Amino acid sequence: MKCTVCREPALIDLRRHNSNFCAEHLLRFCRDQVRRAIEEFDMLRPADRVLVAVSGGKDSLAVWDILVGLGYDATGLYVGLGIGDYSDTSADHARRFATERGLELITVDVPETYGYDIPEGSRAARRAPCSACGLTKRHLFDQAAVDGGFDALVTGHNLDDEAAVLLGNVLHWQTEYLGRQHPVLEARDGFPRKVKPLVRLGEREVAAYCITAGIDYIVDECPMAVGNKHLGYKEVLNALEAGSPGAKADFYLGFLRKAAAAFGAEAEAGRAALGTCNRCGAPSSSDTCAFCRLVERATDPERSRR
Ligand code: SF4
Ligand code: ZN
Ligand code: ZN
Repeated sequence: MKCTVCREPALIDLRRHNSNFCAEHLLRFCRDQVRRAIEEFDMLRPADRVLVAVSGGKDSLAVWDILVGLGYDATGLYVGLGIGDYSDTSADHARRFATERGLELITVDVPETYGYDIPEGSRAARRAPCSACGLTKRHLFDQAAVDGGFDALVTGHNLDDEAAVLLGNVLHWQTEYLGRQHPVLEARDGFPRKVKPLVRLGEREVAAYCITAGIDYIVDECPMAVGNKHLGYKEVLNALEAGSPGAKADFYLGFLRKAAAAFGAEAEAGRAALGTCNRCGAPSSSDTCAFCRLVERATDPERSRR
């Protein structure tokens, strides 16, 4: 197998692109895909200060690495979730990445700052772990981006993630979510601009990027992911992709081009109802936001005696 660009031995075949790449051209391909996504969806401007939500996993470290390589002023944000050894190890990977490259990493530790961890929060709020975790992370990412005056909050969602979310939204006709499923959400109502520069890269390409670029990421999955519906959707999409390379990209990028705008009005209607949380000041559809309610339930001393 030879590299499609230089004819040297190739490391990886990308059937969707009908290409094989050596190390150098794989790195270049991944950077080009990110640059293309940024341009195509008008995600960032060259002088933007960006905050990258970093988990220590391959996607967030890859997007941070690529953005720094493209010349962006990119600071990392790590949120410690208190998920046992998984959190300790993921924090080590994030810190090491930042230290080795001389990059700034902001850290927020949920148990230390808010007095609960994700397993407790999940039980207290009677939410699935990933739901309590997602709520916590979204709130803390938004808050850190707004408080730090960053121009955009970057997350490492890749093509596989977005295609799986889209499949879930379509299966249940979650039309408001479909209207919001865009790789760029502009800043508004106290929320920062949110961008997903990896949407043109699949999971396998991002993992290959990290290995080739020497990025030491946490390989273990979060133990709380078991039973997460998105893992099942990913398996379905992987089966489709195996028989029909490019199916995932056609599904997700085709949705953005041809269908997403049809759901814009519903997303807009959902947003119009937002007020402000009376405790933390975050945008909220009720007097107290879902995050403040979660903190209250998870740290209620009465609850622990019940
Ligand atoms: Fe949080 Fe679920 Fe991801 Fe674990 S798998 S980090 S609980 S969202
Ligand atoms: Zn090559
Ligand atoms: Zn609040």
